[in-house]
Amino acid sequence: MVTVKENADYIKQRIKDACNRSNRNPEEITIVAVTKYVSVARAKEAVEAGIFNLGENRQEGIEQKYEHIGAQATWHFIGTLQSRKVKNVIDKVDYIHSLDRLSLAKEIHKRTEKPMPCFVQVNVSGEESKHGIDPEKVEQFVKDLHQYNNINVVGLMTMAPLVNDESILRNCFQSLRNLRDHIQSLKLDYAPCEYLSMGMSNDFDIAIEEGATHIRIGSKLVGDERNKGGNE
Ligand SMILES: *Cc1c(COP(=O)(O)O)cnc(C)c1O
Repeated sequence: MVTVKENADYIKQRIKDACNRSNRNPEEITIVAVTKYVSVARAKEAVEAGIFNLGENRQEGIEQKYEHIGAQATWHFIGTLQSRKVKNVIDKVDYIHSLDRLSLAKEIHKRTEKPMPCFVQVNVSGEESKHGIDPEKVEQFVKDLHQYNNINVVGLMTMAPLVNDESILRNCFQSLRNLRDHIQSLKLDYAPCEYLSMGMSNDFDIAIEEGATHIRIGSKLVGDERNKGGNE
């Protein structure tokens, strides 16, 4: 299996290249290693390779890996979060990328003592299978969050459609960026909305060119241990 370090070096080079093409500074980009399909050992390997931001999409994944890695990593919850599970993950996660409904905001607000940095998940592509808020409804949603002062909207997140058509991907990322700029312009103190969580293994270069600040990389960085031999 290719080491995480080797994958990370390769990804960092591609980040640099994408930044050069778009006049950006690579330091603006946070790599979140998505460890949902790999073992604790592989997640540890990522931390040892200097990737300190880890992403998980299930309560069990966070619990299991947090037990072994703990607060030396910064933890990102990137998946659908059921309200009843909030109390189990809230003390371990540093960022939630999947805030998509008021009932979830209410539960997070109730369970945390200090403001929780959250990304509002937006369904830019409009695919029914995808979670997230309709782009047209994001402004009202963010305004409605003012009642929950433990919610800090640090940015917006989206998942692009699974296509290879570069123009479709670019459009999707641009729409999220425009929406981010709009929410930022509202100047709400609880919604600085600086960040853009977008870009995964297959589209992160384009996402960076379009302004991503957080890229979430699983298979091309730590791999996928669900089917042996399928690792990059
Ligand atoms: C699994 C997952 C990723 C990483 O996907 P890869 O294509 O393996 O890089 C990123 N974001 C979310 C929300 C995911 O569920």
